[in-house]
Amino acid sequence: MSGTAGGQSTGKRLRQPIVVVLGHVDHGKTTLLDRIRGTAVTAKEPGLITQHVGASVVPASVIEKLAEPLKKLIPFKLIIPGLLFIDTPGHELFTNLRRRGGSVADFAILVVDINEGFQPQTYESIEILKQRRVPFIVAANKIDKIPGWKPNPNTPFVISHRKQPQWVQEELERRLWDNVIAKLYEVGFQADRFDRVKDFTRTVAVIPISAKTGEGIAELLAVLAGLAQRYLQNRLRFAEGPARGVILELREQPGLGTAADVIIYDGVLRRGDLIVTGGLEGPVITRVRALLMPKPLQEIRVAKRELEPVDEVYAAAGVRVVAPGIENAVAGAPIYVATSEEEAKQLAEKVRREIEALRIKTDAEGVVVKADTLGSLEALVEALRQKNIPIRYADVGPVAKRDVIEAVASKEINKFYAVILAFNVKILPEAEAEAEKHEIKIFQHNVIYQLLEDFEKWYREQIEAEK
Ligand code: GDP
Repeated sequence: MSGTAGGQSTGKRLRQPIVVVLGHVDHGKTTLLDRIRGTAVTAKEPGLITQHVGASVVPASVIEKLAEPLKKLIPFKLIIPGLLFIDTPGHELFTNLRRRGGSVADFAILVVDINEGFQPQTYESIEILKQRRVPFIVAANKIDKIPGWKPNPNTPFVISHRKQPQWVQEELERRLWDNVIAKLYEVGFQADRFDRVKDFTRTVAVIPISAKTGEGIAELLAVLAGLAQRYLQNRLRFAEGPARGVILELREQPGLGTAADVIIYDGVLRRGDLIVTGGLEGPVITRVRALLMPKPLQEIRVAKRELEPVDEVYAAAGVRVVAPGIENAVAGAPIYVATSEEEAKQLAEKVRREIEALRIKTDAEGVVVKADTLGSLEALVEALRQKNIPIRYADVGPVAKRDVIEAVASKEINKFYAVILAFNVKILPEAEAEAEKHEIKIFQHNVIYQLLEDFEKWYREQIEAEK
């Protein structure tokens, strides 16, 4: 993989690709992220990992250093400045990294326990990645649990699979094929071990790793960086214009009220900038009062860092934004810098329309959908549409009495849609009572895939019972 083609000659700056980690619970997402952030320590490049709010940057120098033993396998010189990893793994947060018709994330690592194989959230992650059209690679984790595996102490971040006894190598191959590659084929992806892949646009690269011992991390980072600068150059071209971003989460900032953790994917955000975002009650136009970033430290500690005010941040970045009125915004909403009041109004209208398009209100038959964030609502609505399940009403928030009233109205048209699908939200007591009274079925889950499966199973049973 040589990724320098054309990049340097253009003279244009590239930003870091934004990378997310997804996968089933306990398959090692958190351990992998910790390990990646810790690599800089081992690579003897202290101070180079930059901690952002909600994200961390692994600089190109660290990746090149780690990948040194792999020169023959992956020869490239990096032109991207590094990789920006979103710190919180899993698809809940990922769905909030929304961007019209896609995602703010440029790349994803899907973590699969090589011994356990695909699980419900593995499938769900793949569905969401497909929906949002995010390219991904697969980290086949926990290779150290293969019986007989001996970690490589000399170059600890490089896989030692060729140094294992024949039978251990064979077992690795078997698990890799049966539990990961074959499963990817089943869901429509051609896949192979990364060092056998010839065309990365057609084949998903699978990298055996151990987040525990660190083996394979060098390959993982090298493949990611190589792929990003080879295939994503247009997307990563950085313009020093007004910032474009998305609200990842809203948080209480002691002494300053509600702040928004924002991922900036283009441009520059400055203190005092006029910004436009949106909430369920409408657009929010305000000015940035403060931008907060973690204090840089010499020593690398990923844990809680004190924040300090900064004057500006360049994409790609994670930053905490303090601004009056931002508490009315919603996670998953876009955030834009406007260069004039006039432009702010136009952007506000754009944001309003975008958010309204995700909330559904009809008089037709269909299910009622409630989700915890704008991002998960969008993912859920999209998944329902793909399955041709009609939606009467969809919004963000707990299941309330009015949702039950909507379901009752739907039931009057078609009793099979007397249903509320609640994703990661509470059911308010009065809603519960009302649902019982009107025999409205409420499905509740924190896995989209499972929520739909529960509903579809119930639906089929109702149809069967009718016959
Ligand atoms: P998450 O839920 O996907 O974030 O999973 P975690 O990172 O919390 O890992 C779940 C468990 O698996 C923890 O006990 C980890 O120590 C363990 N684990 C993670 N990666 C590895 C690995 O590569 N090898 C082994 N043996 N255990 C691992």
